[in-house]
Amino acid sequence: MNEWIPVYQAANSLEAHTLKGAMEVAGIAVLLQGEALSGALGELPVNAVEVTLLIHPADLEGARHILEQYRRGNGGSWRCPRCGEHNAASFEICWRCGQEPDPGV
Ligand SMILES: [Zn+2]
Repeated sequence: MNEWIPVYQAANSLEAHTLKGAMEVAGIAVLLQGEALSGALGELPVNAVEVTLLIHPADLEGARHILEQYRRGNGGSWRCPRCGEHNAASFEICWRCGQEPDPGV
């Protein structure tokens, strides 16, 4: 199977690579989508460039587990499922709209 599905949209390239590394350590193959575009766009703020992590469907459960750990752990930001705002890991609800992070994503 060569099917890839999006599992997470990272706020920026740095976050994407952090998660990619964590997943690869766990034996999950990760493809980054959107990163090439960021180079072509030039001097945009880091936050303006989003990178989507793609994985094989068979790795979905493991990938979600890693994402969950990442959200709870070392300073990673999370993305509001309602308004799309990026929040620091220390925020338990979205600073903009008050939504809680979606644990199912
Ligand atoms: Zn929000």
